[in-house]
Amino acid sequence: MNPASSDVPRRNDIPASVPLLDVNRGNQALRNEILEAIANVVDSGRFLHGPDVVRLEESIAAVCESRYAISCASGSDALLLALLAFEVGPGDEVIVPSFTFFATASCVWRLGARIVFVDIDPVSFNLDPAKVEEAITPATRAIVPVHLYGQCADMEPLLELARHNDLKVIEDAAQAIGAEYRGHPAGALGDVGCISFYPTKNLGGFGDGGMLVTSDEPLAEKLRRLAAHGMKTRYYHSLVGVNSRLDSIQAAVLNVKLAQLGRWTNERRANAQRYQELFAARQMDQRLILPRELPDRYHVWNQYTIRVPNGHRDEVRAKLTERNVGSEIYYPVPLHLQECFRTLGYRRGSLPVTERICQEALSLPIFPELTAAEQARVVDVIQDVLPNERAAA
Ligand SMILES: *Cc1c(COP(=O)(O)O)cnc(C)c1O
Repeated sequence: MNPASSDVPRRNDIPASVPLLDVNRGNQALRNEILEAIANVVDSGRFLHGPDVVRLEESIAAVCESRYAISCASGSDALLLALLAFEVGPGDEVIVPSFTFFATASCVWRLGARIVFVDIDPVSFNLDPAKVEEAITPATRAIVPVHLYGQCADMEPLLELARHNDLKVIEDAAQAIGAEYRGHPAGALGDVGCISFYPTKNLGGFGDGGMLVTSDEPLAEKLRRLAAHGMKTRYYHSLVGVNSRLDSIQAAVLNVKLAQLGRWTNERRANAQRYQELFAARQMDQRLILPRELPDRYHVWNQYTIRVPNGHRDEVRAKLTERNVGSEIYYPVPLHLQECFRTLGYRRGSLPVTERICQEALSLPIFPELTAAEQARVVDVIQDVLPNERAAA
């Protein structure tokens, strides 16, 4: 018998390439179920506000342990609707991190309020509560903590500051569905939580989609009205709202996928643990700064983001790309230094931690179906290309 024909993987079965994210691996396994759910929507003729949308809202409210969930067209719209509901506008200030996706801040600008960028903690990558406190003024109306990469911001001190200063807390939980802080789910910690179903998120649709979660009944009612042109009774407009709806087809897809979310999160967590072990076994945890799950948090690992110190990040990334290992930089330019916000007056040096992390952060493949062999390949290639220096403390 020829041993080469055996099913046992050979020692030198090295994956030729590793994608940063392969959405097909998760979706293909559910293909029939998803197509059936879409066919039901096609046959029902109810493309908006259908039963799939109601079911998804109920399920997401349960996941977030919130009394209400209001669907909308995207995570970006969820953030905008939350600020609209709190009537944030000219003369108001809103505190946001600069190390985040653009949508966290652009909604503030769009409403004519002032964006106040605050620096982050270098370990969690999330808002630093001490620096938030320094940034509060009489004009401050709200804080938007982002649960970046799937780990909750340090909410307790932020909520305390909000209570003392009468501020609203809008959680940007776009990357953090299922994450927890001291046993409570992301989205249910502040006044309102914003969730995204963008395809790369932990619960991703087949296009755009978003959700707001809250346990405040009048707020929920207002959000629902604002997302529907400000009308409750058809053609009677009590508020100037927007058109922001979740398609029934997206909800149908998301309902099928939601049943797998717990398992997918476990797989992401197992992959993060395996990276930790692989890097440690090669003593590379001394040469890189690995991400950590902090005490009292439940990290859902939307991204596994290492820090490559000593100015080597771009060189390491270029070599990973050369060897067909996917990676990404979230985010290369901090928001306070974006051209569109130059009139806010921030300069290089304004937010030193954010600026440093923007030069060091490198996100590696972490999606649920990533194989052990692929992870070993990622780590081997990094070991191969990383200059042999210790990370500065
Ligand atoms: C994805 C994302 C958003 C925006 O969500 P969309 O659904 O893409 O509009 C907002 N904030 C953060 C931190 C995100 O990652």
